Amino acid sequence: MSRSVLVTGGNRGIGLAIAQAFAEAGDKVAITSRSGEVPEALAKYDVLAVRCDITDAQQVEDAFKEIEEKQGRVEVLVANAGITKDTLLLRMSEDDFASVLDTNLTGTFRVVKQAARGMLRLRKGRVVLISSVVGLTGSAGQANYAASKAGLVGFARSLARELGSRNITVNVVAPGFVDTDMTAVLDDERRAEILSGVPLGRYAAPAEIASAVRFLSSDDAAYITGAVIPVDGGLGMGH
Ligand code: NDP
Repeated sequence: MSRSVLVTGGNRGIGLAIAQAFAEAGDKVAITSRSGEVPEALAKYDVLAVRCDITDAQQVEDAFKEIEEKQGRVEVLVANAGITKDTLLLRMSEDDFASVLDTNLTGTFRVVKQAARGMLRLRKGRVVLISSVVGLTGSAGQANYAASKAGLVGFARSLARELGSRNITVNVVAPGFVDTDMTAVLDDERRAEILSGVPLGRYAAPAEIASAVRFLSSDDAAYITGAVIPVDGGLGMGH
């Protein structure tokens, strides 16, 4: 059955692969990004692209109005949008810290809050948050990012408890290193260093993250909530 799906940051990288996977399966898919453009890879599907900066509560509210009008209440939310501003602690400005938290954690809160309203009325729903292996293991130079991604775990598990009785599951996917714009900025030395810690010896393709997200959104995962699913080639060894 075709469901109403929203993927934040669905215009590129991991979000794009997730949007593609749901569209391919016949779901009604909305994507948000700051540009609101439909990427070339989604042109063949009937995807709704909405402009929405998740750091702005009003834009999030307006985006949900548009999505609900055009494809119905969101039944599957994938909160994927995120940023990095990497630097060592003593060089990290308060803005470097606050802006990453505001996008990755508070931005996710803004989106999930809007989605939960509709899901509570529907008495069903699937929420998947995209965290990161570094939220669980920590990462030098990424204190802001790791804090935001660890925060998503506590956030998701609290909501799993709040919303479970209404047939809404809330889970976290924690990718390792994935080939996208976000990791393209890493130099060869850093890439080699990362790969030396990955038992599978390679980065993930975005579609491999999408597979886990699709599973958590499927009927087969109806009894899974509050879980953190690593998709990291073994980098975090299950954490
Ligand atoms: P990209 O940098 O390729 O894409 C980031 C996405 O987030 C874009 O769609 C971007 O939209 C959106 N976004 C960023 N800020 C905002 C904002 N303020 N409002 C709305 N949308 C915003 O990243 P990835 O695809 O690599 O990452 C996707 C998610 O996966 C992130 O949460 C990231 O932390 C996580 N992740 C990535 C890993 C990796 O190795 N790549 C590893 C682990 C986790 P726009 O086009 O408007 O900028």
